[in-house]
Amino acid sequence: MNSNKRGKLVLYSGSSGVGKGTILAEVMKRNPKVRLSVSNTTRAPREGEIDGVHYHFVSRKEFEDLIARDGYLEYAEYCENLYGTPKQQVEDMLDNGYDVFLEIEVQGGLQIMEKYPDVLSIFILPPSVDELERRLRNRGTEDEETVQKRLTEAKNEIALKDKYRYLVVNDDLETAIQEVLDIIR
Ligand code: 5GP
Repeated sequence: MNSNKRGKLVLYSGSSGVGKGTILAEVMKRNPKVRLSVSNTTRAPREGEIDGVHYHFVSRKEFEDLIARDGYLEYAEYCENLYGTPKQQVEDMLDNGYDVFLEIEVQGGLQIMEKYPDVLSIFILPPSVDELERRLRNRGTEDEETVQKRLTEAKNEIALKDKYRYLVVNDDLETAIQEVLDIIR
């Protein structure tokens, strides 16, 4: 896309297992102006995850080198792994007129709100914490200990939801997709 108008930055958070990736994949299909920023992470790839598509999978050393070069818009440690948004790719996409979604956890989200007070921020909520637990477990990608850690993180994150401008409950998937499309329109 080569529009002269700079795109919007969208901060997009919500607990692990809430379905925010599924919603965003549909939003991108229906709105070609939307792009996802691909983060760096030190986490190991899950089955089916592709380097450069879902994440850039990097070593702790590589991650820390980019911190030292001031190469991140934000970064945070989550369940013992580092996750961060590389600055340059986001700037390039915004300059090219794309609306760029940062799908990141809340500590990183707070850093973004501080740097960009006008950022369009969206928090995706589960219908209930019980339902979140069921979804996390059914996903089957993590062992029990990790599921428990992620649930604890999820509750901490939900406690900060009011820092976000828009709250979307992912009860019915289609309704949630429409709400996100409406917010960015
Ligand atoms: P997961 O391991 O499930 O892929 O991601 C764990 C959490 O880290 C999710 O909430 C995800 O949105 C978040 N995350 C992914 N990339 C980044 C990033 O670049 N920065 C921050 N702060 N969080 C991220």
